[in-house]
Amino acid sequence: MSDTTALPYPAADAASLEFSPEQMLTMGEAVLARSVAHLGSLDRQPSCGDVDAADLCRALREPCPEHGAALEPLLDQLFDELIPRSFTTPGPGYLAYIPGGGVYPAALADFIANTTNRYTGVWQASPALVQLEANVLEWLRDWMSFPDGASGLLTTGGSGATFNAILCARERYLGTDIRPGVLYTSDQGHHSIEKAAKLAGIFHDRVRLIPSDAQFRMRVDSLAAAIAADRAAGLRPFMVVSSAGTTNTGAVDPLDAVADLCRAEVMWHHVDGAYGAFFHAVPELRPLLAGLPRADSLTLDPHKGMFLPYGTGALLVRDGEALRAVHSATAGYLPAQQLEFYDPSQYGPELSRGFPGLRVWMAVKMLGAARYRAAIAEKRALAVWAAERIAQVPGIVMDAWPQLSLFAFHLEGPRLTTQEARNAATAALMERVTRRGRVMLTGCTVDGRHLARVCVLSFRTRREEMEACVMHVTDEARTLLT
Ligand SMILES: *Cc1c(COP(=O)(O)O)cnc(C)c1O
Repeated sequence: MSDTTALPYPAADAASLEFSPEQMLTMGEAVLARSVAHLGSLDRQPSCGDVDAADLCRALREPCPEHGAALEPLLDQLFDELIPRSFTTPGPGYLAYIPGGGVYPAALADFIANTTNRYTGVWQASPALVQLEANVLEWLRDWMSFPDGASGLLTTGGSGATFNAILCARERYLGTDIRPGVLYTSDQGHHSIEKAAKLAGIFHDRVRLIPSDAQFRMRVDSLAAAIAADRAAGLRPFMVVSSAGTTNTGAVDPLDAVADLCRAEVMWHHVDGAYGAFFHAVPELRPLLAGLPRADSLTLDPHKGMFLPYGTGALLVRDGEALRAVHSATAGYLPAQQLEFYDPSQYGPELSRGFPGLRVWMAVKMLGAARYRAAIAEKRALAVWAAERIAQVPGIVMDAWPQLSLFAFHLEGPRLTTQEARNAATAALMERVTRRGRVMLTGCTVDGRHLARVCVLSFRTRREEMEACVMHVTDEARTLLT
């Protein structure tokens, strides 16, 4: 190889950061070739890469390079050395945590969004592009059966969506008097709820974790009692965050009953649908999420249930004006506000921003809603199929059947006489299955009990991987119990 590494790009003008069209095409083709080859190899990659990488991380520390390098060696390093040292999150065998996958049209959209680099913070700067984002939010609104007056916001994830929902509720019910406000969620609620509450000024002494029932759903009787106790103590209950699919076991809280209680108590009902909301896009599955459209606001995570790459969450707010009231702002250097069209910086905390709507728009336009519904329904069917089989494995006890596409179980056996032993065996089961390389499982701890989980939500997961999952769980359970 000739010495292209030293100064591959125009050296004549040291202050120029531009590349020639030929260079850009060549570099783009190189990136595309690597990326597509990577996708083609996903089903042969181990489900969990070698993440024991502390030494590698230390070796990677380096001073800021003074001079630029060529692209190829950087791609070598990324694709050959670094990317494989990770969980294979886009792979078909990723059944850990909450998968998603990352559909290809979104990658194309990101490339376009980043090369064209248009400003979508204020409507006037790129009205037609902002309209695409507004369309996306309306599609989400329709899938969730939210009313016309609802508005929304694309965020970087579910955590950011819940944070903004808490701001809406706080502004509406507490105004400037934040301290007496109390927020309720269940002991199975995602930790991002407490974190978002704290960021919004609702500290831990004003967050109540309501106990859940045997199926890990929030107990509405306990919720009502907690609200009454706080009122009696002179506090101001203002918000309940329920879960449409918990991360631990996939439990769906009694959303209708919580909605009834919130209406009676004049409180804000937010539903955390980061994992589960997209099942509502499938009409046949809507009964599983009864009450979801009654929420005051809803967290969605398109990087889970819409199979987009990481970095896309969404919030829907039933009364769009409540979202606008929190974020709307003016400044002398900004264009005058207009009210006809959606305007991202009037509905969200950011001013300068990328174009998060394009990846959602492009994915839906290229794949179509029907295909999305079919994929989502298939993931649930696969989870139900696998749960029925895994439940029959000797020694396996199901703790949570799939309400959506996630189920949880643990191992029991004559020699596993203590909770500790059962926990260790359940952890070993997941570890051994994962080490086989086809599927990756992770667990959760609930009340001192360690549970294994299977979450089917990668668009790449098909029947084949679920067959492998059942087989490997069966084999490893037998090995651990004999
Ligand atoms: C993933 C998840 C979150 C957090 O979403 P991020 O996109 O990771 O910020 C919140 N709640 C539930 C139920 C989740 O599954």
